[in-house]
Amino acid sequence: MGEITIKSYQAKELSEIIQIDPNVCKGCDSCKSFCPTGAITGQYGATHKIDGSKCLQCGQCLVNCPFGAIKDTVDPVEVIEQKLKDKKITVVATMAPAVRVALGEEFGMEPGTIVTEQMYGALKKLGFKVIDTNYAADNTIMEEGSELIAKIRHYVLGEPTQHHLGALPQFTSCCPAWVRFVELEYPDLIPNLSSAKSPMQMAGPVAKTYGATNVWNTEPENIFVVGIMPCTAKKLEASRPEFNSAATYWKTKGRTADYPDIDTVITTRDLARMIKRAGIDLKTVEPFADSDNPLAEYTGAGTIFGVTGGVMEAALRTAYFVITGTELAGIDYKPARGLQGVKTAEVPMKDAKTGKEIVLKIAIAHGTKDNVRPLLEEIRAGKSPYHFIEVMNCPGGCVNGGGQPINPMGTSWLGKTKAIFPWS
Ligand code: SF4
Ligand code: SF4
Ligand code: SF4
Repeated sequence: MGEITIKSYQAKELSEIIQIDPNVCKGCDSCKSFCPTGAITGQYGATHKIDGSKCLQCGQCLVNCPFGAIKDTVDPVEVIEQKLKDKKITVVATMAPAVRVALGEEFGMEPGTIVTEQMYGALKKLGFKVIDTNYAADNTIMEEGSELIAKIRHYVLGEPTQHHLGALPQFTSCCPAWVRFVELEYPDLIPNLSSAKSPMQMAGPVAKTYGATNVWNTEPENIFVVGIMPCTAKKLEASRPEFNSAATYWKTKGRTADYPDIDTVITTRDLARMIKRAGIDLKTVEPFADSDNPLAEYTGAGTIFGVTGGVMEAALRTAYFVITGTELAGIDYKPARGLQGVKTAEVPMKDAKTGKEIVLKIAIAHGTKDNVRPLLEEIRAGKSPYHFIEVMNCPGGCVNGGGQPINPMGTSWLGKTKAIFPWS
């Protein structure tokens, strides 16, 4: 039997990130029950395998394998350490909201302890500059909310448009495993995916354009951006060749430019390992707020991206304000009828321009494996009542992503999510 090898990051589209070590697998079959796509094969008692052509790289099997047989085989930690030693390079970290509520677990803190300032302190000590993914999430919200408003104005309020608009219902698109799922299994619904990039993919170009010129005073090719994510699928997302907006921008300015927006991605587990390798203890590190850095500022809307319902609520607040001219006071989630794990809501609103009344219908699904297919089949059948659907692949959202600390209880997500996100 072969052995799996750990790959260092390579600048090309990554696949087969998640692999089963045949020397450790006991053939217990547990992983199959967490896989959204049936990508795992093997008889009970025999070594199992992942079919790369079906795999979303979400890591749900990894965090739930009771024998630790499933590995994230892309490890860029040493590459980043080398970049940090290079005086010419500005290494910029962009950290997702769900990282700061889980990193403490790796240092013996209670699950759910929020360690934002300790995380900033450790990153500073390691030599990183910062563009907080929460800041970039605010950009995603503005883009996604504007896109939704344009679709509502055209498809619901009947206004003419000069623009090419995608289809309704609009799907959120910030979860790369969900995007890959649509590409593989429901390609006819690709026009429903929001065209807004994920917060991580917004952060990279900002770092290599505005950040280079206005914050760090350096050349864009000397910036190396590291996504720090709760997610193994983000390693795939960053390597997709279409994410090269910064290079495209600089080419319009007459420069030679050939680099990805995000140079590499590490998970919460990888960051904890890196901090430990540097001899830093998160419990005693000097906290840091980075309050002078405009790219480390964010709203409450950016913060809630890490949990199911967060992206929807944030984008909806923007859409509601623009259409009605007033703030959205609150969304009354109702349990879904017959669709476990799906929340739905109806948001009545009056168009301030025309006085027309509309009811926006939304759905929020988490856990691609169990909850998403019925919603998609409804759309295919032309029977979907919804205008906007949020999907996060992992149960509970990114807080239980495949890059988070491994909990011996598996993703016992309900209690954990409540502890971590008291506002949810
Ligand atoms: S859960 Fe782990 S040990 Fe069990 S079959 Fe899957 S990979 Fe093998
Ligand atoms: S990474 Fe996700 S999609 Fe791939 S085999 Fe594991 S659970 Fe299935
Ligand atoms: S829900 Fe979050 S952690 Fe899970 S695959 Fe999607 S983006 Fe990654």
